[in-house]
Parts: sequence; structure tokens; C-alpha cells
Amino acid sequence: MKLLDGKVASAHIREELKKNISHNKHKFPRPPHLAAILVGNDGASETYVASKIKNCEQIGMQSSLIRFPADSTQRELEEKIIEINGDPGIDGLIVQLPLPKHIDETKIIELINPEKDVDGFHPVNAGKLMLGQKGFVSATPLGILYLLKYYDIETAGKNAVIVGRSNIVGRPLSILLSLNKEPGNCTVTLAHSRTKNLRDVCLTADILVAAIGIPGFITADMVKEKAVVIDVGITRIDDSSKKSGYSLKGDVDFENVSNKCSYITPVPGGVGLMTIAALLSNTYNAYLNKFNGN
Ligand code: NDP
Repeated sequence: MKLLDGKVASAHIREELKKNISHNKHKFPRPPHLAAILVGNDGASETYVASKIKNCEQIGMQSSLIRFPADSTQRELEEKIIEINGDPGIDGLIVQLPLPKHIDETKIIELINPEKDVDGFHPVNAGKLMLGQKGFVSATPLGILYLLKYYDIETAGKNAVIVGRSNIVGRPLSILLSLNKEPGNCTVTLAHSRTKNLRDVCLTADILVAAIGIPGFITADMVKEKAVVIDVGITRIDDSSKKSGYSLKGDVDFENVSNKCSYITPVPGGVGLMTIAALLSNTYNAYLNKFNGN
């Protein structure tokens, strides 16, 4: 088994971006700029956003973290998004999900200018992805494509099974892997909680992606010999041995599955890091689009 190491692959992407940003220093009036809106104080969201901001700094990208209290109104958030949409000094805008229950998430996402929607959640970008057109691809599926590419994993003609059909991971990835592109050209099955005989379906996979949110759900008996296994799941498990009080677990029973597959992503250190690298890459492209007029 070989590790699909998100640390190595994401470091490569960040290095490339850092070089390009530095190279463009004298060509463009300012560096790329990502704005992140964070509502409330959810522990996991705080960690994700902090990591995104830190990554921006490391590659010479500007960032702004805009915090709102948990009881902020829909109107207050919408006003901020409208302001950022019109701000020529900001290239990319993300709103960290999930939002508090009283906020209409769909309306918030639809308000983001698609040209700044570097999370790729806006219907315009989701539609372009569906059609195989140029647009912003949702960061987690894009990060997975980058990882497959970095490790030169052959995808054409392979059976890919994706477990989990969310709008931000499973569904867009199922479309991307089915497109006539590289990586792509897979025969794709998108499985979910109503799938019958899930074990048998998973056993058909040359490439198996788990995006469920249940730690250790994919066990060795569900995995074909020599399959490529991508674990998207991240769940916090109480762990008193850790300073933070928790450890992160993926959807795959790593210990047993790793004995059987050809490649596997670790958690942490796999898809999560690639997601951030893909977000940076989208932001850089939004910046290029602005100054190169693409
Ligand atoms: P969602 O909760 O939106 O979707 C989960 C999916 O899993 C649903 O489609 C659901 O099916 C399916 N599912 C649930 N139970 C079963 C079951 N018993 N058998 C088969 N399918 C099942 O999750 P997300 O896509 O947002 O996230 C999935 C995981 O990935 C989470 O752990 C999340 O934290 C992680 N994540 C990691 C990211 C990263 O950067 N690494 C980024 C985004 C998410 P149904 O539709 O029928 O309900």
C-alpha cells in the first residue's frame, strides 16, 4: 500500500502558488485576496478558517477574516456579502458552513458573486461543473482531483464508487470523475444511505471514495484488492490523550483497509489539506481572471 500523502501534494501546490504570486508582484497592483466570513464560534469551523487564513499568509496571499456573532441576522450577513461582492480589492469570498439554523444558507450562497465564489458552491459554478465548463470547482472534489493527478493515478475506464451524495463533496466529485477529462473518464456509481447491498457496490470499486461522516464505516470486507481508497470523512472523537481533547477520524477503517488497497489517504493529512490547497488555487485563479481579464 502507498500513502496518498496530502501533506506532500498540498505543499507542492502551495509552493507553486507562492512562486507565481511572487513572480506577479511587479506585474499586478496587489497580491490575491481571500475574504472568509465566520458566523458564531463553532470549534471545528474556527479551526478550518484559521487554517485557511494561515495558509494564505504562507504563500503571500492576503486574507481577511470577517466574524459575525451567532445571533447575527440574515440581513446583516447579506449586506456584508453585497459589500464584498463590490469590493475590487477582494478576489475570493467564502462563507464557512454550517451557518446557524436561523440563517437561510441557500440564499447566502446564491448572493455571492460567482466570480468570487472560490468555494464553487454557487449554482452558476455548480452548473458549469455539470457541463464540464470552466468555473470554480468545489474545493474538496478539486483537491481530490489534484491528489489523483499528483500521484499519477490512472482513472480512465476505472469503476469509481463514491459513498455520500452531498452537494459539496460526493455529487460534484461524481460528475467530475465521469467527465471526458483527465483525471476523469470513470464509470461512476454514487451511493448513499438508501443504496441496497452497499458492500457489494463498494466491492466493484477500483477507486472508492468515502464521504459519509461516520468514523470507520468503510471496513476491509467492502474494499476490492488493490483499490484506490480516498477518505474524505473528518469526525472529531473525544481523546483525553490529546492536548486539544479530541482526535480526527476518517470514514475508513484505515488499519485494516490499508493492508488490502493499493493507495489510501490518511486522516488527518489527506483530503483536508488538499481542500485548502484547492481553495488557494481557486482564489489565485479568481485573481488572474480579474487582472488578465479572462
Ligand atoms: P453530508 O452529511 O452532507 O452527507 C453525508 C452523505 O453520507 C449523505 O449523502 C448520506 O446519504 C450518506 N450516508 C450517511 N449514512 C450512510 C450510510 N449508512 N450508508 C451510506 N451512505 C450514508 O456530509 P458531507 O459530504 O458534508 O461530509 C461528509 C464527511 O466529509 C464528513 O465527515 C465531513 O466532516 C467531511 N468533510 C471533509 C472535508 C475535507 O476537507 N476533508 C470537506 C467536507 C466534508 P443520504 O444523502 O441518503 O442522507
